[in-house]
Amino acid sequence: MPEGPSILIAAQTMGGFAGQKILRASGSAPLDMAALVGQRILALRSWGKHLLIEMPRFSVRIHFLMFGSWRMNERKDAEPKLSLGFAGGQELNFYTCAVKRVDAPLDQAYDWSADVLSDHWDAAAARRKLRLTPQMLACDALLDQSIFSGVGNIIKNEVLFRTQIHPLSQVGALPPARLRALVDDARQYSFHFLAWKKAGVLKRHWLAHTREICPRCVIPFSKAHLGKTRRRSFFCAYCQHNYQPGPAAQA
Ligand SMILES: [Zn+2]
Repeated sequence: MPEGPSILIAAQTMGGFAGQKILRASGSAPLDMAALVGQRILALRSWGKHLLIEMPRFSVRIHFLMFGSWRMNERKDAEPKLSLGFAGGQELNFYTCAVKRVDAPLDQAYDWSADVLSDHWDAAAARRKLRLTPQMLACDALLDQSIFSGVGNIIKNEVLFRTQIHPLSQVGALPPARLRALVDDARQYSFHFLAWKKAGVLKRHWLAHTREICPRCVIPFSKAHLGKTRRRSFFCAYCQHNYQPGPAAQA
């Protein structure tokens, strides 16, 4: 599943379509294709894992799910969910994704303060949300798109390793400095991810995700499907502290 930085790269790559009028719309998505024709694209934006095609009358939200993909001015050998045609034979094609119409203006429809890559990201708001759900596990908290929109499983594993927080820690048991570090690193690592992805060097910078050995302790990582999402976690049981309520939280 593409994480937020990959969607931002997609929006930036397609940015040249802003200002262009849609001349053709087709695909298997449950959208009124005729309503798209004639609209001029205002902007390509991303909110977390959503790619947003902003238009004057309504917008279109694309979620790439697990196996979604897109092509610009070329086609895959598959039926697109949505295909948009522009002047000069240019086109945008989206595959194996969820496509939805968004009627409200995007600045109203989305909480931009929750998007870890947004200029409007609000770290204090994220800390407040976490304090309201003290029993939530750290591994679930980072994947909660209403708190950390754009964070996916890779960013989750890397941020927990970098901040030395065990994935099964309860967020309410984190000392204030650890809570702050978790929130701040979710944004900081997402920008590292963005830069490394653009440079084609993302995987070589992974310290924990899919790795076998903790680079700090030089002992094997633990691997498990943890939390309510059951996503793969890679963590070091030695240097990532498991914060739990009660006396253990004093450690
Ligand atoms: Zn370690």
